[in-house]
Amino acid sequence: MPKPEYLNYVGGEWVEAEKGETYTVINPANGAKLADVPKGSKADAEAAIDAAREAFDKGKWPRMTPGDRAAALLKLAALIEADMDRLAILESKNQGKTIKQARDGDLPFSVDNLRFMAGAARTLAGSASMEFAYGATSILRREPIGVVGSITPWNYPFMMDIWKIAPALAAGNTVVLKPASLTPITTIELAKIIEKAGLPAGTVNVITGPGAVLGEALASSEKVDMVSLTGDTSTGKEIMRAGAANVKRLHLELGGKAPFIVFDDANLEAAARGAVAASMVNGGQDCTQAARFLVQEKIYPKFVRRMVELLKTIRIGDPLERSTDLGPLVSDKQREKVEKYAAIAKGEGAKLEIGGGRPKGKAFDKGWYYLPTLFSDATFDMRISCEEVFGPLVTAMSFKTEEQAIEIANNVVYGLYSSVWTKDVHRAFRVANAMRFGAAEINEHLPLVSEMPHGGYKQSGFGKDLSIYSLEEYTNLKHVFVDMTDADRKPWHYTTFGDPL
Ligand code: NAD
Repeated sequence: MPKPEYLNYVGGEWVEAEKGETYTVINPANGAKLADVPKGSKADAEAAIDAAREAFDKGKWPRMTPGDRAAALLKLAALIEADMDRLAILESKNQGKTIKQARDGDLPFSVDNLRFMAGAARTLAGSASMEFAYGATSILRREPIGVVGSITPWNYPFMMDIWKIAPALAAGNTVVLKPASLTPITTIELAKIIEKAGLPAGTVNVITGPGAVLGEALASSEKVDMVSLTGDTSTGKEIMRAGAANVKRLHLELGGKAPFIVFDDANLEAAARGAVAASMVNGGQDCTQAARFLVQEKIYPKFVRRMVELLKTIRIGDPLERSTDLGPLVSDKQREKVEKYAAIAKGEGAKLEIGGGRPKGKAFDKGWYYLPTLFSDATFDMRISCEEVFGPLVTAMSFKTEEQAIEIANNVVYGLYSSVWTKDVHRAFRVANAMRFGAAEINEHLPLVSEMPHGGYKQSGFGKDLSIYSLEEYTNLKHVFVDMTDADRKPWHYTTFGDPL
């Protein structure tokens, strides 16, 4: 029998799930089978954890110089870059995202993230070598944490893998990477490229299967030093519960419900275009998605009208076509969730401006498509204004004053992303500073850069992705205290026994 195309990658070997079980991965654009992948069990997770543990405790990777680790990561980046066309097609087929998003957004950004972290690996150093006590020197060391369990979501499968493994590897950790069960294909492809790049066996291990089983095994294992999750806030809570037993170090990037605040003096056309781009990005399945449009009352009707006009121009269709703007949602379950929220919005009295259903036509019959949807006249206390939908469905509401806008914007349990649109520089800074969110953009909504941190406040989680701050998340800080006197009796001993010197 030929070897299956998709296997788990554990300790440098390609292996089936322990019980030989597989599950089928579906193309959300047409419901067709894409591949069979291993359906891992707790035993598979344990084998991967053991491999990562061995690689950390005795292997080469944590003991390599930062320069050599950087060289390996740069090689990995080059191999990914050379393979971007193929990877983008697989990502689009598995996730449903448009080919232009995958090929021109996710993949080049992933390569850039990896290259940044390769360079950043060489900057890791303690900030002190100083005498803070008489007769002794203090040194700070930044050390890898150990075995990191990385759990990724289905919205940006490949990019989230890189956001997790790049800083973890740059800092000298070893990794067990578990992709979302809906979207494992490009993660297994990544493991193949990692093997080709020559990373030592066990440095990165990839296992696929149900999140609740594998994720729970990672979070509860004493052999795993840290778990890094990007996912739903409820999953973050599960992991906190499972990790509490062994006081697991956690890094949680969770949900969002980003406000997009437009003042009367804003460039309305720029704001409306920004609103459409930032709300329909990745089919709205984006934790930074502009989801709540707070628009000052004078321009509110005009803004909503213009947004509707622009939403009408969104081209829905086959995500593999370059001309497609909006593909299907990732799964039937996700579409049902969006449909549920459309019903909730209607029930709560919000006004449907556009969309609110599935597109009609044979081309859409088999895929999980949903129309770009805008509800206006929402109020701050409606569920549709507070809960994460994660689809192409967003809401608009009007406000009167700056204070009111700030209050409404902050009135959610989430705190990941926000933006303010105005030409008044004083107001722009006041509002940006008042946002209880990990990011506040001014006259823009969405762009991220490798050099700046990304991460939440409140129930959007804690710990940063991207930037030097992410690298630091994957390190332990050690204080080495060095006596320089060789004295038998130290001045402080008398506080425990005897009299002062
Ligand atoms: P999810 O929470 O359902 O799944 C995330 C990962 O956790 C998957 O790999 C899943 O298999 C695993 N998992 C599920 N149950 C688990 C459990 N009990 N224990 C351990 N692991 C478990 O999230 P999703 O639906 O794949 O992704 C969408 C969510 O991710 C949204 O809430 C979105 O806002 C969030 N997200 C956040 C960011 C960010 O940077 N903050 C980025 C992307 C996505």
